[in-house]
Amino acid sequence: MTFKLMLRNFVGGPLTEAAPPVDDAALAELAAQVNQASRARLGRTLSIREVDAGSCNGCELEIHALNNVLYDLERFGLRFVASPRHADVLLVTGPVTKNMREALERTYKATPDPKWVVAVGGCALNGGVFADSYACVGGVSNVIPVDLHIEGCPPTPSDLLRGLLALLSTNTPAKSAP
Ligand code: SF4
Repeated sequence: MTFKLMLRNFVGGPLTEAAPPVDDAALAELAAQVNQASRARLGRTLSIREVDAGSCNGCELEIHALNNVLYDLERFGLRFVASPRHADVLLVTGPVTKNMREALERTYKATPDPKWVVAVGGCALNGGVFADSYACVGGVSNVIPVDLHIEGCPPTPSDLLRGLLALLSTNTPAKSAP
């Protein structure tokens, strides 16, 4: 049995799908624009904290892809940070579950002003396919102020970059109520 399995693995091709093509030039231009807009608005590169408020993890996979070898966002100066205290932007995926509500509120409060909140994916807008669940409180804006919504289920890494660019180009970062 083991021998058969080994043979099949040696002889057969890989079972994984080929990675989708990435337009490296377009990606580089987009990421450079985001970085330029960030430097113009903040005087430095953008720091992003991802917050999963109860998503199915589909949106997380696309957000994580921004850091993989295909997209490698850090080469353009954009970076994900571990603590909200170091973040300019909260990228929040939803829906917001009852269990995660307090964590989201505390993360928002811990992020220094001025700050932006970006709701990522259809669930973060209005609860999406989980809207009627007893365990959810709905979209992100039901819990904290949202500056921008990036559509998609899930949005692609390029969609996320375009959203960040729109955010930096048009929105003034919010200050928490005293
Ligand atoms: S928008 Fe789609 S991928 Fe994102 S959390 Fe909702 S169901 Fe999952």
